[in-house]
Amino acid sequence: MELVFYIDTHTLAVREVRERKCTKCGRCLPDTAFYVAPRGRCTKFCRRCYDRKYMEIEDRKTTAQHIRAATKRANNRSRFKKSTGPPIGVDEVTQLWEACQGKCTLCDLALVWQCNPRKRSGNRAVLDRVDTADNRSYHNNAQWLCTICNEEKGGWDLAVQLQHDIETLRSKIRVMKKRKKNPPRSHYETILIPAKKIYALSQSHAAFVAGNQET
Ligand SMILES: [Zn+2]
Ligand SMILES: [Zn+2]
Repeated sequence: MELVFYIDTHTLAVREVRERKCTKCGRCLPDTAFYVAPRGRCTKFCRRCYDRKYMEIEDRKTTAQHIRAATKRANNRSRFKKSTGPPIGVDEVTQLWEACQGKCTLCDLALVWQCNPRKRSGNRAVLDRVDTADNRSYHNNAQWLCTICNEEKGGWDLAVQLQHDIETLRSKIRVMKKRKKNPPRSHYETILIPAKKIYALSQSHAAFVAGNQET
């Protein structure tokens, strides 16, 4: 940690900036050039070195390793979304990858694994759920897509999900309307004795008491 003073060329004011040294490249940089690690601390490497290290690790991975990682991510997402159905297996994902021959299922673009945290790579391989309306897991419901196709599909997926919600609400309303037309028989009113009946009973009781008193 170092304290560095800068002179602002515009206002000629002295600015005080706290800088830290990157343990990889040795440059002194302000805190904003570092990622924030868990517990609010700064990472030891600067953002550039950290990204490079991450990209090197990603580049070293084989296709099988990437597929395994994608499967794990997919199953984690299913668990997070509380999807129905069993988790997807590595064999199934590998079969899907072989079936599409490393190309996007929708646009036939050759898929890549390279990832740059600073740049957007459109043809990065993504495992996608085909049908998202009833929140099924990835098992028998997955395909390989490029990032662009997956992002474009997102809007349509949302439309299908909303349509599914509308259909379920409509069917619920239909059931409720039916119930309103033919209400169930065991209503509270039917259990109670009607007031007229009570009056008649009390009258007959009074007459019986009067008859007894006369005799
Ligand atoms: Zn660095
Ligand atoms: Zn595509």
